[in-house]
Amino acid sequence: MRVLVASSEIVPFAKTGGLADVTGALPKALRRIGVEADCILPFYRCVDRDRFPLKGPGRAIRVPLGHRDEAGSVEETDAGDGVRAFLVRNDRYFGREFLYGTKDGDYIDNCERFTFFCRGVMEWILRSGFRYDILHCNDWQTALIPVYMKTLYAGHEPFRETGTVFTVHNLGYQGLFWNHDLPLTGLGWDLFTPRGLEFYGKLNLMKGGLVFADVLSTVSATYSREIQTPEYGYGLEGVLYERRDDLYGIVNGIDDKEWHPATDRRIAARYSAEDLSGKADCRRDLLAEFGFPADDVPILGLIGRLTAQKGFDLVEQIGEWLAGQRVRVIILGAGERKYEEAMEELGTRYPDRIAIRIAYDDALAHKIEAGVDMYLMPSLYEPCGLNQIYSMKYGTVPVVRATGGLADTVVDADADPEGGTGFIFRRYDAEDLKDAVSRALAAFPDRPRWEAIVRRGMALDFSWEASAREYLRLYERALRKRGRKG
Ligand code: ADP
Repeated sequence: MRVLVASSEIVPFAKTGGLADVTGALPKALRRIGVEADCILPFYRCVDRDRFPLKGPGRAIRVPLGHRDEAGSVEETDAGDGVRAFLVRNDRYFGREFLYGTKDGDYIDNCERFTFFCRGVMEWILRSGFRYDILHCNDWQTALIPVYMKTLYAGHEPFRETGTVFTVHNLGYQGLFWNHDLPLTGLGWDLFTPRGLEFYGKLNLMKGGLVFADVLSTVSATYSREIQTPEYGYGLEGVLYERRDDLYGIVNGIDDKEWHPATDRRIAARYSAEDLSGKADCRRDLLAEFGFPADDVPILGLIGRLTAQKGFDLVEQIGEWLAGQRVRVIILGAGERKYEEAMEELGTRYPDRIAIRIAYDDALAHKIEAGVDMYLMPSLYEPCGLNQIYSMKYGTVPVVRATGGLADTVVDADADPEGGTGFIFRRYDAEDLKDAVSRALAAFPDRPRWEAIVRRGMALDFSWEASAREYLRLYERALRKRGRKG
C-alpha cells in the first residue's frame, strides 16, 4: 500500500502545533508496519536546507489558479526513517516568516496559498509518475484535495483507484473565505451549495474535505462524538452527523524518539519510572532557569498556543487564587496578544509565584515537561492533546478538563485510586478548575500516593504502532469504498 500524507506542517520541517507532530510521526510508523508512506508539505522559509538537502532538481509544476497559471516546483528531501518528503515550492506563497499569518491575523491570501498547495499536489501526481493508493489529508489546508479527487481530477488515470482519508485535527479552524475566492479553486458554482462547500454564504474548505473524502477521522474517540454536536461542531455538526458512519476516532501516538525521558538530550538528566532521581535534577534545573529557589513547593506547568481553545480565560480567572496557593506556576506560550498580555500581567503581579515566557521554544518545552510536578490543560476543547501525554511520559501529573482526547487519555486519581493518572474537572468553569488543582495540590505531599500516580502515567503505552495499525484499517476501508479490495 502506498500512502501520501499531505499536511500544512510536518515535523521536522515546520511546526506550530500538534498537527505537525502527528503528520511527522505517522508516515514513519506506517513504514514500520510495511506501508510505503511519503509526506508532502509547502516549502516554507523555515525548512532547514542544511539539515535537509534537496535531492536533485525539483520537478516543475504549473497550477491553474482562476484564469491564470502559477508556476512552482516540487522538491524532494529525506524526512528520516525511509520516509520521502516532498516540498511544494513557490517562494511568493511560502517563503515568508510564518506559516499562516502574524500575531495580528492570518495572511490575507491564505485561500490562494493553500489552493496552490492542494492543486499543486494533484498536478504533481498527474505529471510525476508517482502513484498512491491513498491520499491522507489533514485539516482545512489540504481539504481541497479530496474535492479535486471527486471533481476536476476524477477519472484521471493516476487517481482512478485512489482513496482519500480526511483527518480533522481541529474543527476550530475551517478555512473560511469569502465566496469570491471560489473561482480561484477552479471549482464550479454548482459546488457552492449547502451540500457542497458553501457555509452561510462563505467558502468553507474544511467542509469540502468532510463532504468529499471517502473516509473521515479525527484524533480521539470522544472528539469524534463531540463534533457531531452544536457545542463542538462550530456549525459543521450536521455534516459530521450525516457522515457519522464514515467517521472514526484514532488517538495520536507520541514520537518516542522526540519525547522520552530516558533518552531526551534536551533535559538536564535522563530518568525512568524505575529511577526517578534524574527528574529531581530536571526540576532543579528548571527552577534555576526561572530564578526560583530550589525547594519542594509543587510546580505547575503549562505550555501551549495562547488561544481561547487552550483555556487561558480560565487561567486568567484563577490567576490571583493560584498565586495565593502553595504552588509555583511556569507558563510557556505564544499566540494571541490579549492572552500574552494577560499572562505577562500575572507574572509581573506575582513574580515569586508565577513565571511566564512568551516564546515558541521546543527545548524549553522539554525542560518544562521534565521539570514540573503537575501540568495544567484546562482546554475549552481538545481534539487529542499531546502535552498531557508528554506529561505522563515524563512523570508529570496532568490536571485536565474532561474534553476530547483529554477525557480519553487521563484517569482521575480520586475517582479511581487504583488506576488514576491525573486530576480531571468537567465543566468549563473557574470553580471546577480550582477544585481539580486543589485536589492535585492536596495529593502532592503524600509521596507514596503521588509516586504511584506518576508511575502509572509513565507506564502507559502511547506508541505510534497501535495508531498506525488503526490508520491502516481506515485506508483499507477507503479503498473498499473505491471498489477495491484493499
Ligand atoms: P495543539 O496542536 O492544539 O497546539 P497539542 O497539545 O496537540 O496542541 O500539541 C501542541 C504541541 O506544540 C506540543 O508538542 C507542544 O509542546 C508544542 N507547543 C505549543 N506551544 C509551544 C511553545 N510556545 N513552545 C514550544 N512548544 C510548544
